[in-house]
Amino acid sequence: MNMLQLIRTRKSGQALTAEQMSWLVSSVVAGKVPDYQLATLLTIFCYEGLTREETLSMTSAFVASGETLDWDEISRPVVDKHSTGGVGDKVSLALAPLLAAAGLAMPKMSGRGLGHTGGTIDKLESIPGFQTDLDSNRFRQVLEEVGCAIAGQTAQLVPADKIFYSLRDATDNIRDLGLVAASVMSKKIAAGAPHIVLDVKCGSGAFFREEKEARAFAALAMQIGESAGRKVACVISDMSQPLGRAVGNSIEVLEVIDLLDGRAAEPRLLEVLLAVAATELVLTGKAADTEAGIGMARELIDNGAAKQKFREWVRSQGGRLSELPAGLDDLEGVVSVPVSAPRSGVLQSVDCQMIGDVARRCGAGRLRREDEIVRDAGLAYLTGIGEAVEAGQELVRLFVASDRAGQADELVEASVQALNIGAGGSPGVNPAVIDILRRRI
Ligand code: URA
Repeated sequence: MNMLQLIRTRKSGQALTAEQMSWLVSSVVAGKVPDYQLATLLTIFCYEGLTREETLSMTSAFVASGETLDWDEISRPVVDKHSTGGVGDKVSLALAPLLAAAGLAMPKMSGRGLGHTGGTIDKLESIPGFQTDLDSNRFRQVLEEVGCAIAGQTAQLVPADKIFYSLRDATDNIRDLGLVAASVMSKKIAAGAPHIVLDVKCGSGAFFREEKEARAFAALAMQIGESAGRKVACVISDMSQPLGRAVGNSIEVLEVIDLLDGRAAEPRLLEVLLAVAATELVLTGKAADTEAGIGMARELIDNGAAKQKFREWVRSQGGRLSELPAGLDDLEGVVSVPVSAPRSGVLQSVDCQMIGDVARRCGAGRLRREDEIVRDAGLAYLTGIGEAVEAGQELVRLFVASDRAGQADELVEASVQALNIGAGGSPGVNPAVIDILRRRI
């Protein structure tokens, strides 16, 4: 086999066999394939679409490219969760301790912010002392003792995806459903949990803009997971506006603490959290159905068990919650800038990607790989689609890194542009949870 043969085969409309896919992936990881040849093949994949069989064989070859984890020694049912990424998506931070309090074990490998979307690892690292680079022994110890542990993904887990992903990124060959599914699911399969819930987001702040695309991805991902012997379910959730009120790092942690403390949880955030938690509880047989799972999860929040578990988990990964700011009036290293409604009307829609970009430019994310995140930077999203607003009313509050205060006017302007206030009536507001997809088990 050689790369020219594979390129010719794929150009002539024939799918690659499992054997060819395996050869391709192992040759790439061994450094034997020049970028220009892989980029050519990725471009063909992206234009023509990976077939279902190619997607399955690419996933298997990706998994086989590195180490795989197993959790056989863990006495509780082991679950994992993945979100396709969004703005203000802090669900994992509350979900891990909530499920641990429910008697499940959640070992999770998470990423940093990507593009306009935030990353769980960056959010956790905003807690002073929190360690996200635990070695494997310590990770397992935390998981066994607490019931959840979150760390950054190691270089040994699916090394093929890192190479393919960075070349896809550099050549704009990102959006094929099969390529995305193989990339996401190989990492979940290699991470070893037998039960996986995917939070597949759709809307202006999501990877998938259309619900149809999100559903197609969910169906494919479930098929891949099941063919690897995993139980997979998907929550399709809305990302046409930020999830919850905070978009940033430390301020998202503060919002999670408020939610677990039972203090005025933002309803859409709570709804997605409960839906994902309930889906995990049903998948593992802890709850008979979604409604029962939601009831269990809600009870664990109301009786303080999830909050207690959150504190225990953070402590065992080295975090010191007492050193976080007390609230939004106590942030450090940022200037607080209000964004007011330029006119009265109804908030019709939000360019959620733009809001994510504003938070990133405030200092909550990176514009270049080497950039440092400013812990308390970000924004508070204070209104929701469908709400009536008065001219001059504060819609968003920006927390701009002090050394970027000179850009505040630009950031206010970008925020105003992202918020579409119309004179008309109320638009249809998507439910926070659009659907839950699960095979009969
Ligand atoms: N996230 C991933 O991990 N992979 C993709 O291809 C897209 C989003």
